[in-house]
Parts: sequence; structure tokens; C-alpha cells
Amino acid sequence: MKQRPTTVDTTVKQALDQALQRFASNQHGKNASYIPYLASVPSHLFGISIMFCDGTHAEVGDTEYAFAIESISKVFTLAHVLDEVGPEALRSKIGCDPTGEPFNSVIALELHKGRPLNPFVNAGAMATVSLLEADTAQARWDQIQTTYNLFAGRGLTVNDEVYQSEAKTNQHNRGIAWLLQSYGYMHADPMEVCAVYTRQCSVAITCHDLVIMGATLANGGVNPITGKRAVQARNVAPILSEMTLNGLYDTTGDWYYKVGLPGKSGVGGGILAVVPGVCAIAAFGPPLDVAGNSVRGQLAAEYLSRTLNLSLLHEFA
Ligand code: GLN
Repeated sequence: MKQRPTTVDTTVKQALDQALQRFASNQHGKNASYIPYLASVPSHLFGISIMFCDGTHAEVGDTEYAFAIESISKVFTLAHVLDEVGPEALRSKIGCDPTGEPFNSVIALELHKGRPLNPFVNAGAMATVSLLEADTAQARWDQIQTTYNLFAGRGLTVNDEVYQSEAKTNQHNRGIAWLLQSYGYMHADPMEVCAVYTRQCSVAITCHDLVIMGATLANGGVNPITGKRAVQARNVAPILSEMTLNGLYDTTGDWYYKVGLPGKSGVGGGILAVVPGVCAIAAFGPPLDVAGNSVRGQLAAEYLSRTLNLSLLHEFA
């Protein structure tokens, strides 16, 4: 049996230092620019964090820089909706299958008669937001914020500059929201839902926040720092299933091949990997590959997974 760490020790610390050293100067990829704010974030920023279920953690680089959570938010909204409606309703109304298309694809929707297939493409994420039981946009937002705060163990806030930048340029997502409604997969007012979705993407987090949020999933839904439950234990496996199959959009297979872990990325440059029952890895580096995933974040996760035997397939990796 290959050894895996279960707490921060010198091997873990060395692996983090090595990952930073190896990939900090990697120049591949480009910041997202379709959301103007994201193009202005310094590309050289790079941070990596790891947190074990016992709450011990190690961090290197720019782990206190606040960046936009973007698509990683989809994981935590899903968590709350699963608690409200249950996994069967979620799977029948949205699904857990890859679209094989980019995260904002309209073609994918048309091909499946409006069924989004999974909650991590933009269509599925907005459909997920629409499933929240709420009468007003504020009530919808309050539920989302409360859940995110439980995962992070502190009060997170929206970066208003990101929100404004994204709200002014999100015509494509608004189109997707209307299309969902025309097919019967939008369960609340489409423009209200799109605005709440845009707001959730604009929440500011640090790599340190993200690793706590991931460690909460690794720890069966209980935040290892605060000891508070953020999601029901029975809903953790459905969330990790979605991350395994759809976390990095149309290159999720490549990611799993190399890292062997449920993951989730965001166009803000964040990336999260969860080792169930063991730990979470979070990384932040703004330049993205063509699918929209942090280049340095993926390299760091792959390196740590290999070095520390974290892959779920580690016996053979
Ligand atoms: N807010 C972004 C969008 O809707 C999130 C996309 C992402 O991170 N992949 O386009």
C-alpha cells in the first residue's frame, strides 16, 4: 500500500515548495478576457494550499490574494440545492453527464432539448440556482451566501467591480437563461436567476478560503476549522461525482487522467481538488488553457497528487 499523508508533515511542506518552484515561472495560458475585470488581474500571481481533515494546512505563494470564485461557486450552490431538493430531483432535472462542449455552449443545450446535463456548465448552474426555494432575488441570494460562508468558515463578500464587469458583459448567459426557460428547465424568473448566478461568480475568495471550502467536502461536509456542518453527509458523494465527471468542463477527462481526483476550476484562475476523507488542494494562477482552466493550478495539482499519492487510483498511478 503506497503511503499517503493524513496531516501536514515535512514531506507535504517540501512538495508544496517544490510545486511552487517548478511552476511559478510557467508562462503558458492567458487570463480570461471576456469578463474585462479578469484580464486586469496580475498574471504572475500563484498560490497553492493544502488542508487535511484534521484542519492542519500548509500554503505557499499568493494564498491571501482575493480573486473571483467564478465557476467554482457552482459546487457550493449545488451543495445547498441538494440539501433542499435531494439528489434524485437534481439528477432528473439537471443531470450528471458531460456535455463534451465548452462551459457556455448553446449547441450542447440545443442538442439535448434544453436539458443542461450537469450543474457545472453555465446552463446547468443557472438551472441549479432556479431550483432554490425562494420568492425574491434577495432570498435566493441569502441562501447562497449563507452556504458559502459555512463552507469558508467566514463571511465572504462580493467583489462589486467583478460583478459590474460581468453583469455588463453577460449577454450570452442571459441568452442561455431564456433558452432554458423556453425548454422548461428554468424554474424561476430567468433574468433574476442570471443576476444571482452572476453575483455568486463574483464572490471574492483567497486560496486559503478555497482550501477550507474543499476540505469541508473532504471531511464529509463538516468544516474542519469551525466544526460546523455545511452540507448533509449524504450529499457529498453526489457533489464529488459531479466534480469527477464535469469539474473541468470539456477537459475533465484529461484532468482525471493526470490527477485522479474530483476537481473544479473557475475562469478567475482558481482550482480545487478533493481527496475524500483525506484533504483538499487549492491553487490560484490566472492564466487559463483554452478550456478555461488554470494552467499552473492544474500543474500544481498533478504534481502534488503524484508526489503525495493522493490520486484515487494511487495504487496504480
Ligand atoms: N461567470 C463565468 C461565466 O458565467 C463563470 C465561468 C467559469 O468560471 N467557467 O461565464
